[in-house]
Amino acid sequence: MTSAKHICTGAVLQCMDFRLRRKLADALEKHFPQEDYDLISIAGGVQDLLREDWREFVFKQFDLSRKLHEPSLIVLVQHEDCGAYGGTAAFGDFERELKAHQDEIRRARVLLEARYPETRIEGYLFRLSGEMIPLHEGETLPSLTAEVLHEAQ
Ligand SMILES: [Zn+2]
Repeated sequence: MTSAKHICTGAVLQCMDFRLRRKLADALEKHFPQEDYDLISIAGGVQDLLREDWREFVFKQFDLSRKLHEPSLIVLVQHEDCGAYGGTAAFGDFERELKAHQDEIRRARVLLEARYPETRIEGYLFRLSGEMIPLHEGETLPSLTAEVLHEAQ
């Protein structure tokens, strides 16, 4: 017995926070005009990938996505004021929040690249306004901070 393959472009890991849903789906349209991405939605986004006790659960989702739909792009989306991190208040200000999530994304990329070396990985911080701030490896925050931080005041 064989079944037809259903191929999709990407797999997205995002927080379950209801405030993201509509605006983030809109923002992701840019990546996936056909909406052909698997959505892994868990509290805290990459946080559980970085916790040893939950890592296998998260990998299982990516493994199944890959096995079933062969995505060539993984998009990691952290978000502003995430309750799993204690909200924006826990960071003190938006600059620290941005840097903390960049670090989370960097650590998550290391894990994912080791497991899925052929898959492209992008990371973002999603603002509740709907803005996606790229946090890819190699991108420097200072180029982002000027306008981003001004807006956060
Ligand atoms: Zn969250």
